[in-house]
Amino acid sequence: ASLAAIEAREDGVQAFLQVAPELALEAAARVDADRAAGKPLPPLAGVPLAIKDNMNLVGTRTTCASRMLGDYQSVYTATCVQRMLDAGCLPMGKANMDEFAFGSSTESSAFHRTNNPWDTERVPGGSSGGSAAAVAAGEVALSLGSDTGGSIRQPASLCGVVGFKPTYGAVSRYGVVAFGSSLDQVGPFGRTVEDVALAMNALTGAGHDPYDCTSQDCAVDFTEHLNDSIEGKRVGIIPAFMEAEGLTPEVKAAVQRAAQELQNQGAELVEVDLPHLDAAIAAYYVIGPAEAFSNLARFDGIRYGYQEEGCANLSDQSSLSRAHGFGAEAKRRQMLGAYLLSSGVYDKYYYAAQKARTLITQDYDAAYAKVDTILMPASPRTAFKFGEISDPTQMYLSDLYTISLNICGNGGISVPLGLGEDTQLPVSAQLVGPAFRDRQLLTFARALE
Ligand code: GLN
Repeated sequence: ASLAAIEAREDGVQAFLQVAPELALEAAARVDADRAAGKPLPPLAGVPLAIKDNMNLVGTRTTCASRMLGDYQSVYTATCVQRMLDAGCLPMGKANMDEFAFGSSTESSAFHRTNNPWDTERVPGGSSGGSAAAVAAGEVALSLGSDTGGSIRQPASLCGVVGFKPTYGAVSRYGVVAFGSSLDQVGPFGRTVEDVALAMNALTGAGHDPYDCTSQDCAVDFTEHLNDSIEGKRVGIIPAFMEAEGLTPEVKAAVQRAAQELQNQGAELVEVDLPHLDAAIAAYYVIGPAEAFSNLARFDGIRYGYQEEGCANLSDQSSLSRAHGFGAEAKRRQMLGAYLLSSGVYDKYYYAAQKARTLITQDYDAAYAKVDTILMPASPRTAFKFGEISDPTQMYLSDLYTISLNICGNGGISVPLGLGEDTQLPVSAQLVGPAFRDRQLLTFARALE
């Protein structure tokens, strides 16, 4: 059924860079054989899954939507993908994304655009745009994305599906191509909070991954408290966020209705102030590019991927491979990162950004002494048209609501709230919580469904 849906809808949506019918059918045959033999089936047996193309899966290419890795064949399978397969998922293929996950619209993919299933003239968000669109279009039931500054929560919001970035360390990053190692976090997309909870069980059930020293043992049953009452819980609202420039009236109205709904269910609304949040975007666009520059130095035209032919010497081979392998945004980030880490500049920007990071983390910790969760928008607006945001700085500013969570590492979830009154496109709210209280976050999210 998933292959038929992909066949019927992919022309319009283009969520996938690569569909893997052989792998999917092989996995399905294994489920069928186990069922016929009367063996107990794993919890997600037969559930079709799309995988962001920065995650390795043996038998597929892992391109990061870049010419640099256009022909790169995965030589091993990422832990997050393997755990979903162990839970019984069928790997339907690799989903489109912004090149190396730099972006908020999937427009920087080197291969093709992905269309928002609600309006194919509009972007699906990004960078995990293909993963969000594949679920929204009903091509798959679940997908995996990565979130360095909002890349799960923002596309989920623009496509009207649930998208969850767990706390940094909850899901192993082994086998996921690194963008910003201190910011990157893998998480699931699904149509409902319960689906996402089931995916979390699969991703974390086996505990710590010895291949990723930052991974933690977070094995709990994420479905267990899903339908608990939220009566008496305290929900924070950040007044400055609700008045931010660029927040459209329809998104604001939807988030206010969500606050009302939580209150109707017995939660108490509390205003909280996070004085250093203003610095979050600036800090992120220093730390992110600096880490990206270090991580992407491995694509040198020798060890991996695209190799310029006919070069006279090693230096030309490296610089021409990089010049022709990377797209404009990937180059912009790396040039920025190289500059920010250079001597004389480092103290002024990188060091300052790290200080801001500590202050923002302390702000959140102080807020969580008063509240259990904080409610805010996920994206300031609904899906925009292709090419509508052409200035990179404008695009960076659209990450206002998501970025501070990667700065402090805490979990956040984007929950659909129906269609906006003005644009008739999906709007959503974001709920964020203290580190490693991800299960409680799902309970709040469930209360908004
Ligand atoms: N939009 C942000 C950026 O371009 C976040 C991307 C991400 O989370 N991968 O850096």
